[in-house]
Amino acid sequence: VFQLSVPLNFLGSVYRELRQSLLDMETLFNLQKVNVGVKEKPNAPPLKLSAGEIKFENVTFGYRPDRPILRNLSLTIPAGKKVAIVGPSGCGKSTILRLLFRSYDVQEGRILIDGQDLRDVTKDSLRKAIGVVPQDTPLFNNTIEHNIHYGNLEATREQIVEAAKRAHIHETIQHFPDGYQTMVGERGMMISGGEKQRLAVSRLILKDPPLLFFDEATSALDTHTEQALLSHINSILKEKKRTSVFVAHRLRTIYDCDLIIVLKGGQVVESGTHEQLVDKAGVYSELWSAQETLFADSGEEAKPPRQKL
Ligand code: ATP
Repeated sequence: VFQLSVPLNFLGSVYRELRQSLLDMETLFNLQKVNVGVKEKPNAPPLKLSAGEIKFENVTFGYRPDRPILRNLSLTIPAGKKVAIVGPSGCGKSTILRLLFRSYDVQEGRILIDGQDLRDVTKDSLRKAIGVVPQDTPLFNNTIEHNIHYGNLEATREQIVEAAKRAHIHETIQHFPDGYQTMVGERGMMISGGEKQRLAVSRLILKDPPLLFFDEATSALDTHTEQALLSHINSILKEKKRTSVFVAHRLRTIYDCDLIIVLKGGQVVESGTHEQLVDKAGVYSELWSAQETLFADSGEEAKPPRQKL
């Protein structure tokens, strides 16, 4: 009996681990809205990243082929630059990020990363190269530590804490009942939208991918925390020359981007820097003025300068 109990205990823990990983996989699949219909070519090579340039060439895509969201869309996200995609609600901004993650395939045209069609490389290598902070980050039913660690399973405890500090969430975690060991997720402690967003950013900092996508990633934060976090993200992007794409409604969070792409009706209607677009007096400039008026009415602190800092 004694001899048997050890392997049985062992099997029990393997079973628990396996069950947890399956739960994690399920959450991850939901997280990435992975469409299992997206097929990998036999013997596809891994993505070879060099500078990190992204190109959409005449892309047409709709969740239903008879209702295109993106129409013959062409755009370039230059390597190492910080780029924003803005436009009215429902114009397809998040869809662009989902296509880049290859959750869906385009119906026409192609998407290239450093000259390689996404459909010609392995999904695994593509997804390893990308880090996303989505609009709403589902959490694993596990500890805070595990939820950050997921970004890079080889990271040490010190690196996890460091990532949390950089994402401005370390102090908050220390006030949780069990600190980093506090259980979160559906069966754990409820945490706020802003805390979730900062956990997602710490996961991303730990992963340190070459391509970073932010989908309304700081929308639940107060202005002060948002500015602090964005300035930290900016310094990482600059220092490491990462290519990044920001999807945002509030233009205040993206006006300093190297390039701003304005979408409407599934196509690019304008692109340029903040100054160029404001001078153009088009869609962007209209959105900017409307938001400035809103901020002025809300009595928030001074608006960002019209010229770059
Ligand atoms: P917002 O600024 O409101 O987040 P968005 O520009 O990011 O909007 P998308 O989320 O890309 O817009 O959605 C574009 C269109 O596609 C919308 O009309 C949306 O309803 C539709 N859509 C999004 N996801 C799906 C889906 N999984 N299945 C069917 N239609 C979808």
